[in-house]
Amino acid sequence: MNRPPPHGIVVLGSANVDLVVDVDHRPAAGETLLGSDLVTTAGGKGANQAVAAALLGGSVAFVGCVGDDGPGGLLRSSLSAAGADVSMLQVVDAPTGTAIIMVTPDGNNSIVVAPGANRRMTPAAAEASRARWAGARVLVLQLEVPIETVDAVAQSAAAAGTRVVLNAAPAGALDGATLAVCDPLVVNESEAAALVGAEVTLATGPSVVGDLLALGARSVVVTLGGSGALLASVDSPDVVHVPAQQVAAVDTTGAGDSFVGAVAVALAEGEGLEVAVRWATHVAARSVQRRGAQASYPARADVPPPSA
Ligand code: ADP
Repeated sequence: MNRPPPHGIVVLGSANVDLVVDVDHRPAAGETLLGSDLVTTAGGKGANQAVAAALLGGSVAFVGCVGDDGPGGLLRSSLSAAGADVSMLQVVDAPTGTAIIMVTPDGNNSIVVAPGANRRMTPAAAEASRARWAGARVLVLQLEVPIETVDAVAQSAAAAGTRVVLNAAPAGALDGATLAVCDPLVVNESEAAALVGAEVTLATGPSVVGDLLALGARSVVVTLGGSGALLASVDSPDVVHVPAQQVAAVDTTGAGDSFVGAVAVALAEGEGLEVAVRWATHVAARSVQRRGAQASYPARADVPPPSA
């Protein structure tokens, strides 16, 4: 009998400290703006997705790099507190990645990332944990670590039978061999536009999803903020629209990461992609109703079961 893998889900990616300030508008070039008091929280797409998945009950290990500094300790603690295995979180000789986030009154955000230690997540550094990510049921990747690492890990994990969820964020070009193992490729509107060169709306969405599938992914999910998400796969090419839950958004920081974490958990539990995406809209809707990224993520008990 096959034994289950030690970690159903491995998230390999970035860990950043988030420096969050509220502003009444985005500053123009040359403008200096007074904002709110600074709030410092644990973030980074990889760490956020690992925390989201662990809080939802996933068996999660995080692979990443932080500096030997206070923010690195904050990230290790937040991952551990959520229940993620941090034994493959490496401490390197570079400052912990930092994201500077401005939140406007409409709940939207603008973000600048200084990658720091995340740049040390090289293919060689990833090799150290190969046994874990190549043995996982689901591997989750994003594009805040070197692209050559994403390519190498995605392709070799898929060859070992691991399901690869690639969140192509922030927007970037993707190698054809990497696209070919994405199941699904998850992108938001601007990331989709960067990949296929077309604006995404509910009207154009179905053709954009088709274009993304044509790039070679096995399945595609496009998130549309308050309009929900679109999905399709090679096996089910008809595009499905899953509406968002109707809620009052307070802060959308990290909403996409909670969505990806939820998709990973549902897929690791054997659900199909549409069920996974429907559940992810419940999870992400909870996250936009609270401040922060990781601090806003729900526990399993806070959301209905995936197949409800
Ligand atoms: P990202 O954070 O990557 O830009 P999106 O903004 O597309 O991602 O949001 C991801 C998911 O979060 C959406 O598909 C939706 O399910 C949920 N979401 C985002 N904004 C809202 C909102 N205002 N109301 C309800 N759900 C939302």
